[in-house]
Amino acid sequence: MDLGIRGKRAIVCAASRGLGRGCAEALAAAGVDLVICARGREALEETASAIAAAHGVRVIPVVADITTEAGRAEVLSTARIVDILVTNAGGPAPGMWYDWTRDDFLRAINANMLSAVAMMQACLPEMMGREWGRVVNITSSAVRAPIGTLGLSNAARAGLTGFVAGTARQVASMGVTINNLLPGTHATDRATTLDRRAAEERGMTEEAVRAEHSAAIPAGRYGTTQEFGALCAFLCSAHAGFIVGQNILVDGGAVNLTL
Ligand code: NAP
Repeated sequence: MDLGIRGKRAIVCAASRGLGRGCAEALAAAGVDLVICARGREALEETASAIAAAHGVRVIPVVADITTEAGRAEVLSTARIVDILVTNAGGPAPGMWYDWTRDDFLRAINANMLSAVAMMQACLPEMMGREWGRVVNITSSAVRAPIGTLGLSNAARAGLTGFVAGTARQVASMGVTINNLLPGTHATDRATTLDRRAAEERGMTEEAVRAEHSAAIPAGRYGTTQEFGALCAFLCSAHAGFIVGQNILVDGGAVNLTL
């Protein structure tokens, strides 16, 4: 399917690896020019070169921490014109409710809520002026089914979801759509880190934890970054203009499972 967005310009945040990279690759495959960011230079530059070579689009890597004002300013000034915005940032570490300080909450809310809000506030006015824009926020299945050990993530993403619910409906008449993609477990470095931690805590091998976790997902496996990216690109496409303010689970059926 031609997504009808060839020649559009996108920012994909936190995109040197994982879900962000999956979204960047799928947008590039649809002919979209990209600005991508991450903190680590080497992986980011490798990713930018690989995507540009594979799809023949312009991919500008910006080494930036998207959770800082300076990092966001660098990304935005490099991109200048933004038709498509994909927000993303690393997720908070797991823990127990008694572990977390006020500063831990503020860091999580800054990374997984306020950074996305700031990027939207920066990009929406010009999208509305051009009467076309697409925003996809990478959040988490925790929005639908909070995850016990991920209290910081649950809290921050609930806040972002609330902001999007109102904002998406306030900008929709100007041709701008905002939607959230809610990943369940996908095969990325983040999932590997969480599996490794669970394996250490439970005295199991990482492979055993992954097998147990996969078995608990109706699809019987982790999702791929390609599947996730393809859905993101569709939400950014010319065909998705009537999809507004949705929270779309991509989780292999894991949430709402009744056996
Ligand atoms: P990942 O594999 O660890 O990749 C994270 C990417 O984001 C890397 O490119 C990383 O590069 C970049 N990044 C992290 N913090 C950044 C920052 N402050 N500024 C700029 N770039 C940053 O993670 P993922 O699995 O793709 O997860 C992406 C998001 O989805 C996270 O918020 C995660 O919690 C959420 N999520 C993931 C899953 C899953 O199963 N994978 C499930 C639910 C929710 P640098 O480290 O070089 O900056």
